[in-house]
Amino acid sequence: MIEFFRLMDNSKTSDVLVLGAGPAGMAAALELSRRGKRVTVIEKDSQVGGLAKTYIFSEPEGVFRTDNGPHRFFSKNKYLYDMIGDLLGEKWTQVPRLTRFFVGGKFYFYPVRFKNVLGQMGFIKAFRVLFDYVIEHIRARIKPRKMNSFEDFAVSRFGRTLAEFNMINYTEKIWGIPASEINKDWASQRIAGLSLFSAIKKMIFKKGGPKSLVDTFYYPSLGAGLVYEGMKKKIEENGGQVLLNAEPISVKHENGRATQVEVKTQQGTKLFSPQAVISSIPISREIELFDPVVPNEVRDAAGKLRFRAQVYLFLTIDKEKVTDDNWVYFPDKEVPFGRISEMKNFSKEMSPSDKTSLFVEFFCFEGDEIWNANKDQLFDMTMEWLEKLKFLKKEEVLNIHYIKKPNAYPLYDLEYKERVSTVLNWMDSFENFFAIGRPGRFRYTNQDHSLEMGILAARSVLEGKRYEVDSVGSGKEYFEQGYIPNEK
Ligand SMILES: Cc1cc2nc3c(=O)[nH]c(=O)nc-3n(C[C@H](O)[C@H](O)[C@H](O)COP(=O)(O)OP(=O)(O)OC[C@H]3O[C@@H](n4cnc5c(N)ncnc54)[C@H](O)[C@@H]3O)c2cc1C
Repeated sequence: MIEFFRLMDNSKTSDVLVLGAGPAGMAAALELSRRGKRVTVIEKDSQVGGLAKTYIFSEPEGVFRTDNGPHRFFSKNKYLYDMIGDLLGEKWTQVPRLTRFFVGGKFYFYPVRFKNVLGQMGFIKAFRVLFDYVIEHIRARIKPRKMNSFEDFAVSRFGRTLAEFNMINYTEKIWGIPASEINKDWASQRIAGLSLFSAIKKMIFKKGGPKSLVDTFYYPSLGAGLVYEGMKKKIEENGGQVLLNAEPISVKHENGRATQVEVKTQQGTKLFSPQAVISSIPISREIELFDPVVPNEVRDAAGKLRFRAQVYLFLTIDKEKVTDDNWVYFPDKEVPFGRISEMKNFSKEMSPSDKTSLFVEFFCFEGDEIWNANKDQLFDMTMEWLEKLKFLKKEEVLNIHYIKKPNAYPLYDLEYKERVSTVLNWMDSFENFFAIGRPGRFRYTNQDHSLEMGILAARSVLEGKRYEVDSVGSGKEYFEQGYIPNEK
């Protein structure tokens, strides 16, 4: 009987239920709570921030922080900068970017530097890059390539030598399938703004260039997760609640409306009957929750969508500095990890002043050899290379932290688009259910796009009209009104 009254009470205390407390879910909840809606966020993890959260490790030598892979912030949307600036104040700072690639045993700066490229690549290979580039562009005028895969896109845009130098190999490392089986949409999202010509222009004039060549970016002084912790505080101040270690176990629906959500929490099962549901949990999990079950073709399409996973090592180090870089990329397949990052080069507050840390990223599928490797095996693989590169000696490592992330990257294979459309067309037909975010829309987003999706889903609930959320820069008409601080 007591449980029954508690369940009824939950139904009444939430206008909107938000599933998942990553950037998309938190932005939705913040926007709704600012406008006086009673909102509850349901998060499976013990912390908010999703893939953009920041872990804190207190060790005898001091406090070390790391993002789940460092998160630079970049957007063309001023509203987002103003919103985060309002949340973080002086803790939101600009950081210079330094990135290097390690290819064929040599380091290359990115954005590219003329002397470095020629010196490391050699005149013959540099000539080959230019030659292939010109040939591809002539070919494009006579007989353009069919543009199905990432490989087609990269080769036609840059020529084969450059495409294979650091794009096709790194892409295959990220996705674990050949570049010829990766959808060209990945290229459109990642390298569409790039061209050899603009890179050379940037190298010579040191100005302009596309977005992936930006020289500085914004970063919160205590890690990317600070943004989402700040949002949690504001949502709670506005009367909302964020339930951690909680997850939905069913979403009842009737006549194209989500009517009731059953949620498992640490205090037992709770029932919510909100006016609207906004979900940023993985699309394939969401589909399993619907009751009555979804049509067969929708379930089949969702079941065939695959995510790429990641395993990370976070090494705390008894040394003031390892590199000057934010990130170092390792496209070559002989190196088992894909990227290392030194958190101190994002903000000096990420580690004690006389110590540093490295975040090492491995790409994998759940259940494969890397996913199943234990901490010591991964550490040995990592140290073999870090010692070879003279970055670090084993005895300088203070502690090894081991993190696993399923559902890190929605896999854009050649068939994904049709499958995603089948699932989203069904979900989007609901009057009061809004799928958003990277896992929720199976879309490779950065923080800015997930934040935009969350805000626009909230606006859809508030305004009673559905905003399109799939492209970066959607909802211009709303964002152009500007961010109004501390509005309730
Ligand atoms: C290694 C790495 C580096 C990145 N670097 C950058 C960068 O430099 N700049 C940038 O802007 N972006 C970066 N990104 C992308 C960024 O992390 C994402 O765009 C962003 O986190 C997506 O937010 P989201 O809310 O859409 O999804 P998520 O962050 O995935 O959030 C989804 C949330 O739902 C929760 N959840 C899942 N299942 C359930 C369930 N069943 N019940 C309840 N909750 C559930 C999850 O725990 C999570 O909190 C990076 C991503 C990775 C993996």
